[in-house]
Amino acid sequence: MDRIEKLKALQATPIDPEKDIALINQYAHKELTPEGVFCFPVNLCDNDVDRDIERFTKAALEKLTTLFVGKSGILDHRWSAEKQVARLYRCEVVEMSEKNSLGEPLIVLRGSAYMLRNEANKPLIEAIEGGIVKEVSVGCRVGKCTCSVCGKDLKLDWRTWTYQCETGHIKGEKYNGKQCVGELKEPQEAYEFSFVAVPAQRGAGVTKGAETLDDAVELFKAGDLSKAKPEDLKAIIQRSQMALAGNDERAERTKILTENQKFLEVKNHDTV
Ligand SMILES: [Zn+2]
Repeated sequence: MDRIEKLKALQATPIDPEKDIALINQYAHKELTPEGVFCFPVNLCDNDVDRDIERFTKAALEKLTTLFVGKSGILDHRWSAEKQVARLYRCEVVEMSEKNSLGEPLIVLRGSAYMLRNEANKPLIEAIEGGIVKEVSVGCRVGKCTCSVCGKDLKLDWRTWTYQCETGHIKGEKYNGKQCVGELKEPQEAYEFSFVAVPAQRGAGVTKGAETLDDAVELFKAGDLSKAKPEDLKAIIQRSQMALAGNDERAERTKILTENQKFLEVKNHDTV
Protein backbone atom coordinates (compact mmCIF):
# COMPACT_ATOMS: atom_id res chain seq x y z
CA MET A 1 0.00 0.00 0.00
CA ASP A 2 0.94 3.65 -0.29
CA ARG A 3 2.19 5.94 2.41
CA ILE A 4 -0.48 7.09 4.81
CA GLU A 5 -0.39 10.37 6.66
CA LYS A 6 -2.38 11.19 9.80
CA LEU A 7 -2.65 14.38 11.81
CA LYS A 8 -2.28 13.81 15.54
CA ALA A 9 -2.70 16.17 18.47
CA LEU A 10 0.55 17.03 20.18
CA GLN A 11 0.69 16.84 23.93
CA ALA A 12 2.32 19.76 25.64
CA THR A 13 2.95 17.96 28.96
CA PRO A 14 6.72 17.79 29.20
CA ILE A 15 8.59 14.67 30.33
CA ASP A 16 11.26 14.86 33.01
CA PRO A 17 14.53 14.41 31.09
CA GLU A 18 16.38 13.35 34.25
CA LYS A 19 14.82 9.87 34.15
CA ASP A 20 15.28 9.36 30.43
CA ILE A 21 18.75 10.80 29.81
CA ALA A 22 20.46 7.40 29.53
CA LEU A 23 17.92 6.30 26.93
CA ILE A 24 18.25 9.59 25.06
CA ASN A 25 22.02 9.29 24.95
CA GLN A 26 21.66 6.05 22.99
CA TYR A 27 20.35 8.18 20.12
CA ALA A 28 22.43 11.33 20.60
CA HIS A 29 25.59 12.05 18.68
CA LYS A 30 27.30 13.49 21.74
CA GLU A 31 26.75 13.00 25.48
CA LEU A 32 23.76 15.10 26.59
CA THR A 33 22.72 16.32 30.04
CA PRO A 34 19.12 16.57 31.35
CA GLU A 35 19.43 20.38 31.33
CA GLY A 36 20.38 20.32 27.66
CA VAL A 37 17.23 18.62 26.38
CA PHE A 38 13.48 19.17 26.18
CA CYS A 39 11.31 16.02 26.19
CA PHE A 40 7.67 15.66 25.23
CA PRO A 41 5.20 12.88 24.41
CA VAL A 42 3.64 12.41 20.96
CA ASN A 43 0.66 10.15 20.36
CA LEU A 44 1.73 8.68 17.03
CA CYS A 45 -1.17 6.34 16.20
CA ASP A 46 -4.08 4.59 17.94
CA ASN A 47 -6.85 2.06 17.46
CA ASP A 48 -9.61 4.65 17.18
CA VAL A 49 -11.44 5.34 13.93
CA ASP A 50 -9.96 8.47 12.31
CA ARG A 51 -11.36 10.91 9.78
CA ASP A 52 -10.37 8.59 6.92
CA ILE A 53 -12.57 5.93 8.61
CA GLU A 54 -9.47 3.84 9.30
CA ARG A 55 -7.82 2.57 12.41
CA PHE A 56 -4.71 0.61 13.37
CA THR A 57 -5.04 -2.88 14.84
CA LYS A 58 -3.30 -3.63 18.14
CA ALA A 59 -0.77 -5.89 16.38
CA ALA A 60 0.00 -3.09 13.92
CA LEU A 61 0.56 -0.63 16.77
CA GLU A 62 2.94 -3.06 18.46
CA LYS A 63 4.94 -3.50 15.26
CA LEU A 64 5.05 0.27 14.74
CA THR A 65 6.79 0.81 18.09
CA THR A 66 9.95 -0.76 16.69
CA LEU A 67 9.61 1.07 13.37
CA PHE A 68 9.15 4.54 14.87
CA VAL A 69 11.82 4.52 17.56
CA GLY A 70 14.87 6.54 16.48
CA LYS A 71 12.91 8.42 13.78
CA SER A 72 13.24 12.20 13.58
CA GLY A 73 10.77 15.01 14.00
CA ILE A 74 11.09 17.67 11.31
CA LEU A 75 9.58 21.06 10.58
CA ASP A 76 7.24 20.78 7.63
CA HIS A 77 7.61 22.82 4.45
CA ARG A 78 5.55 25.72 5.74
CA TRP A 79 8.23 26.60 8.27
CA SER A 80 11.23 28.60 7.18
CA ALA A 81 13.44 25.56 6.77
CA GLU A 82 12.92 21.85 6.66
CA LYS A 83 15.22 20.25 9.14
CA GLN A 84 15.44 17.63 11.82
CA VAL A 85 14.70 19.09 15.23
CA ALA A 86 13.56 16.18 17.38
CA ARG A 87 14.09 12.45 17.74
CA LEU A 88 11.89 9.65 19.10
CA TYR A 89 13.86 7.83 21.78
CA ARG A 90 11.07 5.62 23.11
CA CYS A 91 7.87 4.19 21.63
CA GLU A 92 5.38 2.12 23.58
CA VAL A 93 1.85 0.83 23.30
CA VAL A 94 -0.28 2.24 26.11
CA GLU A 95 -3.76 1.04 27.02
CA MET A 96 -5.79 4.03 28.18
CA SER A 97 -8.62 4.00 30.69
CA GLU A 98 -11.05 5.51 28.17
CA LYS A 99 -12.76 3.69 25.30
CA ASN A 100 -12.42 4.35 21.58
CA SER A 101 -15.44 5.14 19.36
CA LEU A 102 -16.04 1.41 18.86
CA GLY A 103 -16.37 0.88 22.62
CA GLU A 104 -13.04 -0.97 22.90
CA PRO A 105 -10.25 0.11 25.25
CA LEU A 106 -8.32 2.90 23.56
CA ILE A 107 -4.78 1.80 22.68
CA VAL A 108 -2.25 4.48 21.82
CA LEU A 109 1.23 4.23 20.34
CA ARG A 110 2.99 6.82 22.44
CA GLY A 111 6.33 8.22 21.46
CA SER A 112 8.72 10.17 23.66
CA ALA A 113 10.82 12.67 21.77
CA TYR A 114 13.69 14.94 22.71
CA MET A 115 14.95 18.22 21.34
CA LEU A 116 18.17 20.05 22.09
CA ARG A 117 17.71 23.14 24.22
CA ASN A 118 19.63 25.51 21.98
CA GLU A 119 18.95 28.97 20.56
CA ALA A 120 17.67 27.63 17.26
CA ASN A 121 15.11 25.34 18.90
CA LYS A 122 14.01 27.85 21.54
CA PRO A 123 11.05 29.28 19.59
CA LEU A 124 9.68 25.82 18.79
CA ILE A 125 10.08 24.61 22.38
CA GLU A 126 8.21 27.68 23.58
CA ALA A 127 5.52 27.13 20.97
CA ILE A 128 5.05 23.51 22.08
CA GLU A 129 5.04 24.45 25.77
CA GLY A 130 2.62 27.29 25.09
CA GLY A 131 0.26 25.01 23.19
CA ILE A 132 0.68 26.98 19.97
CA VAL A 133 2.05 24.07 17.98
CA LYS A 134 -0.76 21.59 18.46
CA GLU A 135 -0.43 19.00 15.74
CA VAL A 136 2.06 16.68 14.21
CA SER A 137 1.74 14.82 10.95
CA VAL A 138 2.65 11.17 11.26
CA GLY A 139 3.43 8.97 8.27
CA CYS A 140 3.86 5.26 7.75
CA ARG A 141 3.32 2.56 5.17
CA VAL A 142 1.18 -0.47 5.91
CA GLY A 143 0.91 -3.73 3.99
CA LYS A 144 -2.85 -4.04 4.20
CA CYS A 145 -6.09 -2.22 4.82
CA THR A 146 -8.89 -4.69 5.40
CA CYS A 147 -12.68 -4.50 5.78
CA SER A 148 -13.78 -4.62 9.42
CA VAL A 149 -17.00 -6.40 8.44
CA CYS A 150 -15.60 -9.41 6.56
CA GLY A 151 -11.80 -9.12 6.77
CA LYS A 152 -11.15 -8.94 3.01
CA ASP A 153 -8.83 -6.31 1.51
CA LEU A 154 -10.33 -2.89 0.85
CA LYS A 155 -9.44 -1.52 -2.56
CA LEU A 156 -10.25 1.72 -4.35
CA ASP A 157 -13.04 1.43 -6.87
CA TRP A 158 -12.18 4.01 -9.52
CA ARG A 159 -15.73 4.24 -10.88
CA THR A 160 -17.33 5.20 -7.58
CA TRP A 161 -14.30 6.68 -5.76
CA THR A 162 -15.03 4.46 -2.79
CA TYR A 163 -13.02 1.83 -0.98
CA GLN A 164 -14.65 -1.56 -1.34
CA CYS A 165 -13.88 -5.13 -0.44
CA GLU A 166 -14.54 -8.17 -2.62
CA THR A 167 -17.79 -8.84 -0.80
CA GLY A 168 -19.00 -5.36 -1.70
CA HIS A 169 -18.74 -3.60 1.66
CA ILE A 170 -17.97 0.07 1.21
CA LYS A 171 -15.73 1.87 3.70
CA GLY A 172 -17.86 4.25 5.79
CA GLU A 173 -21.18 2.51 5.07
CA LYS A 174 -23.11 0.62 7.75
CA TYR A 175 -23.96 -3.07 7.61
CA ASN A 176 -26.37 -4.39 10.25
CA GLY A 177 -25.64 -1.30 12.27
CA LYS A 178 -21.86 -1.81 12.10
CA GLN A 179 -19.74 0.64 10.16
CA CYS A 180 -17.25 -0.70 7.63
CA VAL A 181 -13.89 0.60 8.86
CA GLY A 182 -10.50 0.17 7.18
CA GLU A 183 -8.22 -1.82 9.48
CA LEU A 184 -4.60 -0.87 8.96
CA LYS A 185 -2.35 -3.92 9.29
CA GLU A 186 1.20 -5.18 8.74
CA PRO A 187 3.16 -1.93 8.96
CA GLN A 188 6.18 -1.93 6.67
CA GLU A 189 7.81 1.39 7.35
CA ALA A 190 7.54 4.43 9.61
CA TYR A 191 8.62 7.89 8.48
CA GLU A 192 9.73 11.06 10.20
CA PHE A 193 6.94 12.97 11.91
CA SER A 194 6.57 16.67 11.23
CA PHE A 195 5.40 19.60 13.29
CA VAL A 196 2.50 21.24 11.53
CA ALA A 197 2.96 24.98 11.40
CA VAL A 198 -0.62 26.12 10.85
CA PRO A 199 -2.87 23.55 12.42
CA ALA A 200 -5.99 25.54 13.29
CA GLN A 201 -7.56 25.74 9.86
CA ARG A 202 -6.21 23.20 7.47
CA GLY A 203 -6.38 24.50 3.94
CA ALA A 204 -5.90 28.05 5.19
CA GLY A 205 -2.12 28.00 5.13
CA VAL A 206 -0.40 31.29 5.77
CA THR A 207 2.40 32.33 3.48
CA LYS A 208 5.30 34.44 4.62
CA GLY A 209 4.57 38.09 3.96
CA ALA A 210 0.84 37.50 3.61
CA GLU A 211 -1.36 38.05 6.64
CA THR A 212 -4.36 36.09 5.47
CA LEU A 213 -5.21 33.47 2.89
CA ASP A 214 -6.77 36.22 0.73
CA ASP A 215 -3.45 38.09 0.69
CA ALA A 216 -1.64 34.90 -0.21
CA VAL A 217 -4.04 34.21 -3.07
CA GLU A 218 -3.55 37.77 -4.39
CA LEU A 219 0.22 37.39 -4.20
CA PHE A 220 -0.01 34.09 -5.98
CA LYS A 221 -2.21 35.46 -8.77
CA ALA A 222 0.10 38.43 -9.36
CA GLY A 223 3.41 36.58 -8.97
CA ASP A 224 5.70 35.16 -11.64
CA LEU A 225 4.84 31.47 -11.41
CA SER A 226 7.69 30.43 -13.68
CA LYS A 227 9.99 31.11 -10.72
CA ALA A 228 8.11 28.70 -8.45
CA LYS A 229 9.38 25.17 -7.99
CA PRO A 230 7.51 22.61 -10.13
CA GLU A 231 6.73 20.48 -7.05
CA ASP A 232 5.22 23.52 -5.31
CA LEU A 233 3.04 24.27 -8.31
CA LYS A 234 1.90 20.65 -8.41
CA ALA A 235 1.07 20.78 -4.71
CA ILE A 236 -0.98 23.94 -5.27
CA ILE A 237 -2.90 22.36 -8.15
CA GLN A 238 -3.62 19.32 -6.02
CA ARG A 239 -4.78 21.42 -3.07
CA SER A 240 -6.97 23.55 -5.34
CA GLN A 241 -8.58 20.42 -6.76
CA MET A 242 -9.16 19.12 -3.28
CA ALA A 243 -10.74 22.40 -2.20
CA LEU A 244 -13.09 22.21 -5.17
CA ALA A 245 -13.98 18.61 -4.47
CA GLY A 246 -16.59 17.68 -1.91
CA ASN A 247 -15.66 16.54 1.58
CA ASP A 248 -16.34 12.88 0.85
CA GLU A 249 -14.21 12.91 -2.22
CA ARG A 250 -11.35 14.69 -0.53
CA ALA A 251 -10.11 11.77 1.54
CA GLU A 252 -10.15 9.45 -1.48
CA ARG A 253 -8.35 11.99 -3.62
CA THR A 254 -5.61 12.41 -1.01
CA LYS A 255 -5.02 8.70 -1.16
CA ILE A 256 -4.84 8.65 -4.92
CA LEU A 257 -2.40 11.53 -4.96
CA THR A 258 -0.07 9.80 -2.52
CA GLU A 259 -0.39 6.65 -4.59
CA ASN A 260 0.62 8.60 -7.68
CA GLN A 261 3.51 10.13 -5.80
CA LYS A 262 4.67 6.70 -4.71
CA PHE A 263 4.41 5.45 -8.27
CA LEU A 264 6.50 8.36 -9.54
CA GLU A 265 9.11 7.76 -6.85
CA VAL A 266 9.38 4.12 -7.88
CA LYS A 267 9.52 5.12 -11.52
CA ASN A 268 12.25 7.70 -10.93
CA HIS A 269 14.14 5.19 -8.93
CA ASP A 270 13.93 2.63 -11.73
CA THR A 271 15.43 4.96 -14.30
CA VAL A 272 18.51 5.75 -12.22
ZN1 LIG B 1 -16.10 -6.65 3.60
